[in-house]
Amino acid sequence: MTHKHYDYLIVGGGMVADAAARGIRELDHSGSIGILSADVDPPYTRPALSKKLWTDPDFEWDQVPLNTAEETGADLTLETLVSALDRDERQVSTSDGDVVGYGKLLLATGSVPHRLDAPDDDRIIHFRSEDDYLRLRREAGKGTHVAVVGGGYIGAELAAALVQNGARVTLVHPDDVLGGATFPASVAEVYEKLFVDAGVNLIAGRRAERAMVEGDGIVLQLDDGTAVGADLVVAGLGVSPATDLAEEAGLDVEDGVVVDAHLRTADERVWAAGDIALYPDAILGPTRVEHVDHATASGRTAGRAMAGAQEAYQHTPFLYSQVFGVRWEAVGELDAGLETLEDWIEPGASAVVYYLDGATPVGVLLWAVADRTDAARAVLADPPATRDELIGAIRP
Ligand SMILES: Cc1cc2nc3c(=O)[nH]c(=O)nc-3n(C[C@H](O)[C@H](O)[C@H](O)COP(=O)(O)OP(=O)(O)OC[C@H]3O[C@@H](n4cnc5c(N)ncnc54)[C@H](O)[C@@H]3O)c2cc1C
Repeated sequence: MTHKHYDYLIVGGGMVADAAARGIRELDHSGSIGILSADVDPPYTRPALSKKLWTDPDFEWDQVPLNTAEETGADLTLETLVSALDRDERQVSTSDGDVVGYGKLLLATGSVPHRLDAPDDDRIIHFRSEDDYLRLRREAGKGTHVAVVGGGYIGAELAAALVQNGARVTLVHPDDVLGGATFPASVAEVYEKLFVDAGVNLIAGRRAERAMVEGDGIVLQLDDGTAVGADLVVAGLGVSPATDLAEEAGLDVEDGVVVDAHLRTADERVWAAGDIALYPDAILGPTRVEHVDHATASGRTAGRAMAGAQEAYQHTPFLYSQVFGVRWEAVGELDAGLETLEDWIEPGASAVVYYLDGATPVGVLLWAVADRTDAARAVLADPPATRDELIGAIRP
């Protein structure tokens, strides 16, 4: 058993950890930084795993790692699960039985992907990590039949990436139209057509219940009793925030770890950022965001706060996705169950969509409209007096 101590300890080795270590270094050049990560790889650019690595020939593998330890001097320990946090003693314990003390602690444990009922097999991938990417690359050659499960942006991006790389793709999703839970019908139709035109076989309105190894392949059993045979299954079924550690340590956990405007928990020595943090967004109110802009911005703010900055987290994050060269961005809530107001700029090609709670916009989708996230934030922060005035409020 070892007993180390760091001025700053970060639990988790994702994009928040990287941004936080850099944030600390902006203000404190010598304090010791420790990062404990359950991952097998050092922090890396996660969004590339389902996009650029498949679709951008100029994007090289060496652009994936973030070089956190090299560039910040942080002491990074991989394949180490933190199993307990003792706030009175200011230390954490790892599953290897080691104890690590801290002056200040950042919880950056991110998200855990939902799983199918399935055996452990290299050909059934619950996609989240660099390791998953490498496995998928290895297994999915040209002509391989891949069943992708889940119509959220991860499943959709992977289906697009795979079909563009010569795989035969079946995408199983629960909506009537792909993207129908997120986009209004007119946008979802445009979105779905991208996949149909590329040759993706869509199975709509179905959930996969389990995956089984049968003979040389994998069989997916759907909720209507039908079976889909494939060489390989990739699941993008959504994620849950990894809040157990915080909860067991007695921190306030609701939909995420509750933090104040400085991303600090009720314990003055403990911060949380990224996917796990439930923070008071300056525009949106209490918010938890599972997206990369928030990971990097909140990580940096938390790091700077730990190093003594008195700044609040005032960045309202955007999210984005890209398939078949079409990029969409959004700020706030995207729920097709809300009333929506569509402002098409080029019919069938680009649009601004407002998601309304009563008369108030609570989310803005920028469909193939670039560089307008600040304008979307401005509309959400200070909406026009009438909904009619939303039309034309944002233009490319
Ligand atoms: C394939 C993919 C594509 C994405 N694409 C986009 C995109 O296009 N646009 C967008 O906006 N967002 C995207 N995202 C989301 C974005 O990448 C995440 O929101 C962001 O990376 C979250 O960062 P994080 O550091 O909070 O968590 P994570 O990246 O999940 O990192 C958490 C880290 O904590 C470690 N950990 C967890 N528990 C423990 C523990 N107890 N002890 C030690 N270590 C622990 C994990 O091993 C991991 O290293 C994508 C995500 C994925 C998976």
